[in-house]
Amino acid sequence: MANDDKIALTGKTARELAEALELKAYQGRQLFQWLHKRRVFDFERMTDLPKSLRERLRAECMPAQLAVIEMRESPRTGTRKALLQLPDGEAVEAVLIRDGERLTVCLSSQVGCPLQCAFCATGLAGFTRNLSPGEIVEQALHLLVGEDLEGRTPNIVFMGMGEPFRNYDAVMSAIRLLMEADGLGIGARKITLSTAGEAKAIERFAWEGLQVRLSVSLHAANDALRDRLVPLNRRYPLDRLREAIETYTHESGRQITFEWTLLEGVNDEPHHARELLEYAGGLKAFVNLIPWNPVPGMPFQPSTKQRAQAFRDVLVEGGVKATLRAEKGQDIDAACGQLRRTRAMEARAASAGTPETGQGGSVARASRP
Ligand code: SAH
Repeated sequence: MANDDKIALTGKTARELAEALELKAYQGRQLFQWLHKRRVFDFERMTDLPKSLRERLRAECMPAQLAVIEMRESPRTGTRKALLQLPDGEAVEAVLIRDGERLTVCLSSQVGCPLQCAFCATGLAGFTRNLSPGEIVEQALHLLVGEDLEGRTPNIVFMGMGEPFRNYDAVMSAIRLLMEADGLGIGARKITLSTAGEAKAIERFAWEGLQVRLSVSLHAANDALRDRLVPLNRRYPLDRLREAIETYTHESGRQITFEWTLLEGVNDEPHHARELLEYAGGLKAFVNLIPWNPVPGMPFQPSTKQRAQAFRDVLVEGGVKATLRAEKGQDIDAACGQLRRTRAMEARAASAGTPETGQGGSVARASRP
């Protein structure tokens, strides 16, 4: 059977697996556990399934839809970044961040992104397509292969490539798969959705009844600047966005977090902090300050530590909780869309006969299991 005709398994619940493959309910669960809990994609190793069934699965099914094109690990921080190939040849990125014992997996929701934020590498290559639930969940499964998760459930953040609220249904299905007790069993509170400010989807999400956390990528708290940095602001300006967030906090009883990528001289002056203070204060939101991860060719600079701390001080003194996140992936291109972009540039350079530019980090190559 050609690979294209094979049944994809990772986007299905245990019950859906049993139905699609005409298995007994408990066998559907066993198969789901192998894929999601143990992250084993080799049918041969699924030893509690009868041999005849394993052979049928091998003939009819795709255990994994994604192939690992490249896995980079930062020797300094242990951050691991995967470039993963989709069945149609497209590629997405996913990152595993280590903070002591704490693991955080950063997932992509789309190939490329339609939003074109001024400082983000993903938007540069435009938008290609949405990911399916299986393609989203599998990113986490591949990054967590071989990790001992006993007593430490990883956190999940939708902060890779794409706008999760532009792929709403698939992202909700993926979240439910990540939460399955027979799989990774990740609690809703350990999952964070990040949006550039899709006001209508924020309101829809308020009614979803999930205790998933929500981050809004603000980056500017005046419309003129935000129109420039996050063009989605022209559709949903700050007042409209505030309305949606108020609905969300009211309906869900949850507070949100604002993400703010610090760009030197652009959005890191004290008056920008005061604008944010006013906007976030009214919404009782937390603020997460992120140093900009430089993207070659973009007209920005990351803020200095001093400016970042001064910015944070304005917020904290004004009564808004703010954290200054440490950068953890720069040496392996761990910001949105950067690895895919670097690879594309390397490929271009290689075909032009120039030697590859080293990007740091160790590189391991593997193929679809
Ligand atoms: N589209 C969603 C989720 C993906 S981006 C969103 O906008 O929230 C995740 C976060 O990384 C966003 O806050 C985004 O603005 C930020 N980001 C993008 N490129 C970055 C870069 N080069 N350096 C630092 N943060 C970046």
